[in-house]
Amino acid sequence: MEQFHGVGVTPGRVVGPVLQMPAPVAEPVPGPVPGQDAVVEAERIRSASKAVQAALKDRAAAAAGEARGVLEATALMAADPMLVKGAVKLLDPSAEGGARSAERAVWESGAAVAAKLESLGGYMAERAADVLDVRARIVAELRGLPAPGIPDSPTPFVLAAHDLAPADTATLDPARVLALVTSGGGPQSHTAILARALGLPAVVAAPGVDTIPDGTPVYVDGAAGTVRTGPGQPERDAAAAWAAQAAALAGGFTGANRLADGHPVPLLANVATGKDAAAAAAAGAEGVGLLRTEFCFLDRPTEPTHDEQVTAYSAVFAEFAGKKVVIRTLDAGADKPLPFLTNTDEPNPALGVRGYRTDTTTPGVLARQLAAIAHAARDNHAEVWVMAPMIATAEEAAHFTALAKEAGLPTAGVMVEVPSAALTAEHILAHADFASLGTNDLTQYAMAADRMLGPLAHLNDPWQPAVLHLIKATCDGAHTAATTTGTPKPVGVCGEAPADPALAAVLVGLGVTTLSMTPRALTAVNKVLATITLPQAQELARLALAAPTAQHARDTTRNHLPILTTLGL
Ligand code: PEP
Ligand code: MG
Repeated sequence: MEQFHGVGVTPGRVVGPVLQMPAPVAEPVPGPVPGQDAVVEAERIRSASKAVQAALKDRAAAAAGEARGVLEATALMAADPMLVKGAVKLLDPSAEGGARSAERAVWESGAAVAAKLESLGGYMAERAADVLDVRARIVAELRGLPAPGIPDSPTPFVLAAHDLAPADTATLDPARVLALVTSGGGPQSHTAILARALGLPAVVAAPGVDTIPDGTPVYVDGAAGTVRTGPGQPERDAAAAWAAQAAALAGGFTGANRLADGHPVPLLANVATGKDAAAAAAAGAEGVGLLRTEFCFLDRPTEPTHDEQVTAYSAVFAEFAGKKVVIRTLDAGADKPLPFLTNTDEPNPALGVRGYRTDTTTPGVLARQLAAIAHAARDNHAEVWVMAPMIATAEEAAHFTALAKEAGLPTAGVMVEVPSAALTAEHILAHADFASLGTNDLTQYAMAADRMLGPLAHLNDPWQPAVLHLIKATCDGAHTAATTTGTPKPVGVCGEAPADPALAAVLVGLGVTTLSMTPRALTAVNKVLATITLPQAQELARLALAAPTAQHARDTTRNHLPILTTLGL
């Protein structure tokens, strides 16, 4: 038996076999290959493309709905004559630049096909990413390596990796993946956020889990942050008990969260797509507290058109007619690069041109996005609020809110995720209609600890007293702003923090007015908040603020909330 320790980001206990995420396919080296037999190499390319096509067809046959269509289309592309013939031509010594190796020929031919599709625009341009996916699969096949991307297996498995890219996580099927374990990543990384959204037990920053051999049975405890090989009966029993408990906590939130004294604290959802929004509405969310628009366009090499944006946003607004939807403008950069906005050469991307700041380096994208949001808002009946990520100063808040209002969006606010914004909330809220605390980034910047780095996970903890004090400063700033502007300015939280029911109680006590979270957490948070009054929440906040360490703050709060033990949380 071997045990790996990391940071638990989603509670839950499961037993299952490990499958490792294959490493991304590296670009084959350019340059001529002396003495290769072009006929033999051409045959290798043809049979690799056929093997990839057959594997994709098998996956299509086993898939259902939308996924089936996508896989069938990708399978066709694997044997696309333009791709294969183009590659074979590049094996010939008479080709411009000389003969390429089979791998290099497929690589270059794939790039040429993708570029052609992109130049055609519209639907064809969207297929470019599929060609590049197929190209990587053929190269992996030629090298005798496993296909890139999330492994495909008929039996559910524990996915192990160093870390996952946002684009990989988008293709993760929760029906197949039992749990997620990574050697890298932090508790606020997008791997962790996705795991929470899918309700998958997850452990990040557990060194060594990316070396566990495929097929090894493991026990994952997402609360304790441990991964153990060779599970026995006690672990299997613990996993079965958790499955029963999770089933009991699923559903049950009917959409009007109140504290024990009747004080309302609306519970909203964090979403990225129309599909997420439908799931959030079904889970009882009282609205959307964070629509991460960049997730609609992660795989896009170019700026999405006005119509594409209107369609994507409308899909979310349509699920929440008559309810609030807070949509965030593109937060490109750092952990979520978008090719059309992000300069990948920056030495410190988290401190670089990301979020609202891209308006200075790529002007126009923000204004066009606001126009698309306003259009989608007019076409639907949701109460649309808009906010910008990474606002650091009152001038930025004034500029953004003016732009939003010019675009016809009456309620414009800012995210508070940079400590300077928390400390100057009074001045920022003189311009903005509301603030939404992004505790993931606020923690990263308060603690100077990259949220993607496993070894810094203990610092990336929203229970850190410094983070709690910044949240309090924001709420206090909103109160002061209310005395000068006459209107109380709402302060929500939309980072991952409120998904922890104990922390949700503290946030309410600190003065936060709404909580936004992964829909999976709604029931547990609702049940816990229903057991305390507002003065009790305020007392919890006072105790947490006075705690010398994150661990003290967490333990003290938990000791005052016996419901957590009753619910097994
Ligand atoms: C945050 O930083 O807390 C937040 C909600 O934004 P994101 O996680 O998308 O950076
Ligand atoms: Mg953020």
